Amino acid sequence: MDLLSLTAVELSKKIKAKEVTVIEATKAVLNQIDKIEDKINSYVTVDKEGAIKRAEEVQKLIDDGSLTGPLAGVPVAIKDNMCTSGMLTTCSSKILENFYPTYTAEAVLNLEKAGVVIIGKTNMDEFAMGSTTETSAYGPTKNPWNTEHVPGGSSGGSCSAVSANECFFALGSDTGGSIRQPSSFCGVTGIKPTYGTVSRYGLIAYGSSLDQIGPVAKDVTDCATILETIASYDKKDSTSVAREDYNFTEALVDDVTGMKIGIPKDYFGEGLESEVKEAVLAAAKELEKKGAIIEEFDLRLVDYAIPAYYVIAAAEASSNLARFDGVKYGYRSEDYNGLHNMYKKTRSEGFGPEVKRRIMLGSFVLSSGYYDAYYLKALRTKALIKQEFDKAFEKYDVILGPAAPTTAPKIGDSLSDPIKMYLGDIYTISVNLAGLPGISVPCGVDSKGLPIGLQLIGDCFKEKNIIRAAYAFEQTRSYTGPFDK
Ligand code: GLN
Repeated sequence: MDLLSLTAVELSKKIKAKEVTVIEATKAVLNQIDKIEDKINSYVTVDKEGAIKRAEEVQKLIDDGSLTGPLAGVPVAIKDNMCTSGMLTTCSSKILENFYPTYTAEAVLNLEKAGVVIIGKTNMDEFAMGSTTETSAYGPTKNPWNTEHVPGGSSGGSCSAVSANECFFALGSDTGGSIRQPSSFCGVTGIKPTYGTVSRYGLIAYGSSLDQIGPVAKDVTDCATILETIASYDKKDSTSVAREDYNFTEALVDDVTGMKIGIPKDYFGEGLESEVKEAVLAAAKELEKKGAIIEEFDLRLVDYAIPAYYVIAAAEASSNLARFDGVKYGYRSEDYNGLHNMYKKTRSEGFGPEVKRRIMLGSFVLSSGYYDAYYLKALRTKALIKQEFDKAFEKYDVILGPAAPTTAPKIGDSLSDPIKMYLGDIYTISVNLAGLPGISVPCGVDSKGLPIGLQLIGDCFKEKNIIRAAYAFEQTRSYTGPFDK
């Protein structure tokens, strides 16, 4: 048995059946990291000693019957924008190069209660701003399928770690596509839940009205199981929603008979690579064969999503990132002259160029005189986009399209033209603006051998629809990782 090829749920079953120990699973992952991490750079921090110690503790709790859940004993990786008490949390920025939080994010706590073993913290675009994991202060992550290509972003480290078997699953965060797009580029499965489903407590904020934590895993079963574990109502997050139903695994049924699936024509226009288009439409055909009713429709305002998102996300980021000033925590410039100069030098030296660009853009659109023209207009556009989705969901259970217009670009091809990079978010971004759930599942590879992702979007709180559709589609093909090629 190849231990590393197991899914998280399969591994946990084998641990309970005493076919594998938690230590063995943890060591297998750590060995894999030793073997390939130099080439991939999925992690900012690997906590070898902590992981082994925790694995021993968890094994005891499983043996004495106190840990029985479906993720008990599973080694996982956490995106480095989630606080982990006593473990370095950098957001892939120099400004947090020495930040050891005193508390743990609620979603991570929920995983710990379920008995996972945290291996370390994954690389990302600095403060989750980017689409390629190249804006990290700790160097770019490489795509395990082809190390000349990016893994996508901003949760590129989490997705590459899952795809390269450097963990059994990971947590990512999605503000405008950062779970779904890198999942698609790395050939893994990722869910962005309905806004408010997973607590944002302890998630270092980028665009607070858009950010959601979600799972990245090898298959839909793992994703549904992880989501069920991390989702909770949390008083510490004022935007947390007490949902009626957290039983996402109930939707793992291979049956889409009568399910209405809408394909927005607007998602198949200019800019979409033909191989991606073919793979996504072929996936739709598979679902149709299984009894789903597929129909094309017009989703208006698609073109307005990117400008609206970049105004809103930058505005919120400029406010959220004001707290990094060299006073309370993180990096402080060594050489300064008075308080104001300390702020200025700390922030100039601590933030990278993409973060500075967003802070400047955000401060501009919020400034008096421009607030109405940009920020307010973007909020109105956001409301109209939500209305368009509301109309679509009167007719359809699920909306189907690509996760990204292309497969993973080469390293170095995206950063020189930020506007072009922003355009790559076209299919994911409106989902965050409308607060909806979305999943990306692998649906093929292109002629370069790079993975393609199918995106399924659901109405608010209707994760079960997208999980059911994704699960049914997944049954038509088997999972392949970069090493199974
Ligand atoms: N690529 C988008 C951005 O740069 C989305 C990032 C994200 O979802 N965190 O803002």
